[in-house]
Amino acid sequence: MSGALNIAIAGGGIAGLASAVLLARRGHKITLFDKAPQPLPVGSGLIMQPSSFAVMQQLGIFDEIQTKGQRLERLAGRVLPSGKSVLDVSYKALHQGAYGIGIQRDVLYTALLQQAIAEKIDICFSAEITAYEQDGPEGAILFADGNRKEGYDLVVNALGAQSPLTPKQRRPLAFGALWANLPVPKEGWFMGGGLEQRYFKAEKMAGMLPTGKNSNGEQTVAFFWSLQHKDYAKWRATPLAEWKREVIALWPQLETSLQALETHDDLIMAKYFHRTLFQPVAQSLIAIGDGWHAASPQLGQGANMALLDAAALDASLAKTNTVRKGLARFFRKRRLHVYSYQIISWLFTPFYQSTGNFLPLLRDKIAAPLSRLKLAQKLLAAMVAGVLMKGR
Ligand SMILES: Cc1cc2nc3c(=O)[nH]c(=O)nc-3n(C[C@H](O)[C@H](O)[C@H](O)COP(=O)(O)OP(=O)(O)OC[C@H]3O[C@@H](n4cnc5c(N)ncnc54)[C@H](O)[C@@H]3O)c2cc1C
Repeated sequence: MSGALNIAIAGGGIAGLASAVLLARRGHKITLFDKAPQPLPVGSGLIMQPSSFAVMQQLGIFDEIQTKGQRLERLAGRVLPSGKSVLDVSYKALHQGAYGIGIQRDVLYTALLQQAIAEKIDICFSAEITAYEQDGPEGAILFADGNRKEGYDLVVNALGAQSPLTPKQRRPLAFGALWANLPVPKEGWFMGGGLEQRYFKAEKMAGMLPTGKNSNGEQTVAFFWSLQHKDYAKWRATPLAEWKREVIALWPQLETSLQALETHDDLIMAKYFHRTLFQPVAQSLIAIGDGWHAASPQLGQGANMALLDAAALDASLAKTNTVRKGLARFFRKRRLHVYSYQIISWLFTPFYQSTGNFLPLLRDKIAAPLSRLKLAQKLLAAMVAGVLMKGR
């Protein structure tokens, strides 16, 4: 693209901030809008996969993510009451030296925000977007307060899983999870070098994800407990001690760590979405990140996909001479990877979050033994690392 474009980025999450930074560095005029009243990193832990390391380097945040994050060697899960291992994927099966990084979401968010501030990007908070309108060759955005901003060569829909600009139902999946940051267990069972999970069938799941240092420099681990939305009110009405007994029955070693949770408000109920937009490009509007392809975080890919989308959008616009060609190039570059992972996530998630006996039985009796084969280990490691069907 020879001239500078006037670009509106709708949503200042991971995809929005990353694309704003990269596009601003190309000389485009960027305005970023977010509904939050101030910078607001929500949520708990994330796994950064090898698939997005190069993009983090390009953004200039990789050293910080490495320093503050926790190096992860494997993802492991045991089924109870037998205690048998039914998931054990080592990044090293991909290649020697491969690893993931567990990180607090606020560390990634703050690193991206600092880059955006350094690029002097115009960031407008308290700006809730409700709709998009095509104005001839240009795009316009409508806001909840009745404002309308127009004249954009490109509007990037980075509004996340519940984007009002994504014309598709935004109903959450039946299962979400309670999330909390816990102190790192001192006991010897917790090696801290990987994600650990415990399952009872697929109805109950607890996880411990080492997430490195928080903004106060304290080591943290993100704990999650699978829960159906319809059971959330019941969970809140149950004494916390009773729920802790249920968790401890599943995973006795968590007893000490759970002491840090004093009230129900110490845990956040996260909604999970699965939604794929099959045509993310509409004239001067492009959807990226969860606004294009939301999926359950069971595979730990969403934030990485958001970064890859941001980098691909920037590179595609740089290599073409019109917005239309740039967006078409972006879509060609990303579609195979995105749609492959949407299918994988849709197929895999019910093996870990669903009711009934059949899928967990299949997981424990067929899939788990098969997954120990060398070829399967390599394939699973590539899948977890986010590099299957990724292309260059
Ligand atoms: C509990 C949980 C755990 C996860 N774990 C992982 C993991 O381990 N690894 C991984 O890669 N991914 C993980 N994910 C997924 C990951 O968080 C998302 O895929 C990623 O945040 C998507 O980035 P995004 O920028 O598209 O959307 P978001 O990060 O959701 O950002 C959307 C932004 O848009 C703003 N916004 C929304 N609506 C409006 C509006 N109407 N007007 C203005 N602004 C608006 C929001 O305030 C927000 O800032 C997890 C998700 C959850 C919920």
